[in-house]
Amino acid sequence: CGIIGYIGDRPACQVIVKGLKRLEYRGYDSAGIVTEDGRRLFIKKGAGRIDELIERLGLLEMPGKRGIGHTRWATHGVPNDVNAHPQTDCTGRIALVHNGIIENFAEIKDELVAKGHRFESDTDTEVIAHLIEEELRGESDFEQAMRKALLKLRGSFALGIIYTGEPDRLYFVRNESPLVLGIGDGENFAASDVPAFLEYTNRVVFLDDREYAVITKDSWVVKNLDTGEVVEKPVHEIGWT
Ligand code: GLU
Repeated sequence: CGIIGYIGDRPACQVIVKGLKRLEYRGYDSAGIVTEDGRRLFIKKGAGRIDELIERLGLLEMPGKRGIGHTRWATHGVPNDVNAHPQTDCTGRIALVHNGIIENFAEIKDELVAKGHRFESDTDTEVIAHLIEEELRGESDFEQAMRKALLKLRGSFALGIIYTGEPDRLYFVRNESPLVLGIGDGENFAASDVPAFLEYTNRVVFLDDREYAVITKDSWVVKNLDTGEVVEKPVHEIGWT
């Protein structure tokens, strides 16, 4: 299972499909991509091999210069098109991908259903999107709403998050599941593993547990999930292979 995110000037779907293929060795049963063109999200996802999905869904024909891809190894909910990631909130403005397991998802889901949220999938992942949506009702700043929501989760997660209200950025979060940033020139990347973006950059920043990154095409910053404070991170140069 794996995650690859891109923001820059290239067609995002092309970078993401290549990245997903480089992450195939990790194993998966489904895959999906979200891109955004400055107005709305485009989501294509399904069960099957990446090469099949490129044909069946047209993964290489998605607009936008930022996006996130995912390969899923199902833990909650059978491998099918609906349970594939990205998962979204009720408004369709937040989309996210997840590797890991949310241990307290059933309690959170019950609370959210009682508040009127409607769920489409059987995944533990979908609760995260609805939880952020719920926090956004009382908090206009997306990053703060996201943090408040994530502090309610127990379990392991590597997350990639995209929000239509903030067209210049992507969020990546790590807790007990690997995640690394790729620092480019006028473009930035994030992935579960370096090979996913090594063809574009060999400058990397490894996230530690309970850290999250905010990346734009020209900047990146890493913060502590619990305090929201900036964490100074070294940039490593990986040998080209
Ligand atoms: N627990 C999530 C699911 O079953 C993510 C699985 C994964 O790590 O790919 O959808």
